Amino acid sequence: MTDLELLVDLHLDGERQGPGSVETTLKALELTGLKNREGLQIADIGCGTGASALLLAEHTDSRITAIDLFPEFLDRLTIDAAQHRLVEKIIARPMSMDNLSLAPGSFDLIWSEGAIYNMGFEKGAGYWKKFLKPGGVLAVSEISWLTDNLPDEIEQYWQSFYPEIDSVGNKVAQLEKLGYESLGNFILPESCWEDEYYKPLEDRYDDFLEKHNHSEEAVQLVTADREEIAMYRTYKDYYSYAFFIARIP
Ligand code: SAH
Repeated sequence: MTDLELLVDLHLDGERQGPGSVETTLKALELTGLKNREGLQIADIGCGTGASALLLAEHTDSRITAIDLFPEFLDRLTIDAAQHRLVEKIIARPMSMDNLSLAPGSFDLIWSEGAIYNMGFEKGAGYWKKFLKPGGVLAVSEISWLTDNLPDEIEQYWQSFYPEIDSVGNKVAQLEKLGYESLGNFILPESCWEDEYYKPLEDRYDDFLEKHNHSEEAVQLVTADREEIAMYRTYKDYYSYAFFIARIP
């Protein structure tokens, strides 16, 4: 298996592939001001196995285009959508977030949880803007610093993996520079990392390693994950995900 196939295999059975929760998805939906609008066109970019796509389908009158690079994640979403009788509302489309074959100006809402870092926040928010209708809303979660006083170890760790990590204020300023107006933002609480993401992930490591006969690549993947989790547990006061909700005029 390639490293990417291993990554997909490790995450396929997770309900979420990044920090988040039912409560925070619904809180962000409230902030969009679109919750009660009829016939919403929504794109969920980097949807993974679709925790947020399913919630949005359940809580809005909408058609959701669920986009991810990996068809395996989308297949899982389609099975779950069928179980929840939401199949007609969700269209799964495998494609890359930086090369979307979607009609410009066709979405009321672009949603993306824990995924925009794959192309970078500024680049992603800039590129996705053209797919929004006038007055359309972007709701996106992104890893952010919570304070200016950063211990060297954690600053260097995140600089090496994602140099775009920045303060909430600077992220809002980036959105405004791109022509968005901010509708609000909030920080994801610790439970979004621990209960919804890291603990279920840790519970899968043993079976995952056994399944792959402790191959070098599988061990490497788990070791890197464990380091990320240890960093979080030491330095969680200094960073989290923040949800940003912003509208184009
Ligand atoms: N939104 C989901 C998944 C977050 S993890 C959740 O909150 O649970 C990031 C997701 O981005 C993964 O599902 C990964 O497959 C997807 N991804 C990574 N690179 C991508 C790309 N270039 N285009 C589309 N999706 C991508």
